[in-house]
Amino acid sequence: MPVAFLFSSFFGLPFDASAEEPASRAVALHIPSGPLAGLIVYLSAGHGRLLHRTADGRPLAWSWQRDPRYGVREDEWTGDFVVEDLAGRLEQAGATVVTLRERDPRSVGFLVDDADAGFAVEGSGGWAGADQAWGPGWRDLEDTARATWSFTAPGSGVWRVYARWVSSPDRSAEARYTVRSPTRDEVWTIDQRRHGGIWWPIGTVELAEGQNAEVLLDGAGGRLSADAVRIGGGSWAPGPGYEVAPLAEIAPIHRQSSLGGPASLLWLDDGSESSDIRFRARWATWASPTPEEAIFLSIHTNAGRGRGSEIYAGVERDPPLDPQPGSLSLAGAIVEALPAHLRLVAPGWPVDAVRLGDFSEVSPRWQHLPSALIEVGFHDHPTDARFLRDPAFRGAYAEALVDAVARWRMGSAVIPDAFRPVVPGHPPGDRLP
Ligand SMILES: [Zn+2]
Repeated sequence: MPVAFLFSSFFGLPFDASAEEPASRAVALHIPSGPLAGLIVYLSAGHGRLLHRTADGRPLAWSWQRDPRYGVREDEWTGDFVVEDLAGRLEQAGATVVTLRERDPRSVGFLVDDADAGFAVEGSGGWAGADQAWGPGWRDLEDTARATWSFTAPGSGVWRVYARWVSSPDRSAEARYTVRSPTRDEVWTIDQRRHGGIWWPIGTVELAEGQNAEVLLDGAGGRLSADAVRIGGGSWAPGPGYEVAPLAEIAPIHRQSSLGGPASLLWLDDGSESSDIRFRARWATWASPTPEEAIFLSIHTNAGRGRGSEIYAGVERDPPLDPQPGSLSLAGAIVEALPAHLRLVAPGWPVDAVRLGDFSEVSPRWQHLPSALIEVGFHDHPTDARFLRDPAFRGAYAEALVDAVARWRMGSAVIPDAFRPVVPGHPPGDRLP
């Protein structure tokens, strides 16, 4: 069953070319720098609303996956932590962050495709149809051409901007996307040889309601692919008469269309429907072809009346598969970084040794990137829940994760022996290297 997709509002409005240009414009060049520059982090906020059928198979209804405890609902907490605390810090350290749940919390999203009135091309190039394209096709442009997607903001605030292209080896490695608001140019450089067919995150634009803006594509060193630009979040319902849910709240399995990638990822090889968590793992594995340098982080909160953090490297029980070495060392680096970062905001915060978990998101069967599943704290313990709600704790935790990834990347994480996972089926205390 293909998952149909609709934005709550779809409008690509023509850009008013006669609008006044201010005397001076600020130009910001976004060049990744810092310890994570060149690294792509696929960031998965645990859970999210799923569509469920009632006992007779109908009607479908949205439901959260976890009940709130002590003011924390895991589905919402993970989304907020990723958007408000973690993604921005990873980017400040130089990483490119791709969130599997929608990062823009707005229920309004819209797009401008290459067939819409808001799209224009200067220079030469032709139209092409392709599997990766949004809509029927895309524009294949000479490297001297440029494309523009124009739109009018339907509301005030900061909007997330995404772009799609069709990738191939002869595309420009330095495709330049300039997001132009009335006062600023924000410039991002994108490698179009990769990540075709994905709604790739470009950046943000701040606009007042009714302001015109445009996204301009030009570049060098190869042909350019101009397909579509998407602004904001959006919302989705499975059909008429159903509750419309904001994309930011729903599980990735229900937003394949706004995430990009082939719909075939919704099914497993045996023809059965993929679960949401297997979809996340398979989507990131598909989106990140080797030799891309990338990791996958899965953010959760825990239940079971324990306390503190549990960090998992993925294993598979059936068929039995060992954790990837890179996942084991990544989990170890996180375990090592947490105590020092949490010392002041949460003295004595318990952090267990690395655990091995048979979780589909990080299982080596489905997930091929170095990955870790992070159970930040127990939402069903009142003390942990209080910390989970505390902005200082959340900030320190996010900084610990950034630090851990940086140390892991440099290969300098030294994992204390007590933090190493115990090998299943071996004598107690026999720990993994
Ligand atoms: Zn969870």
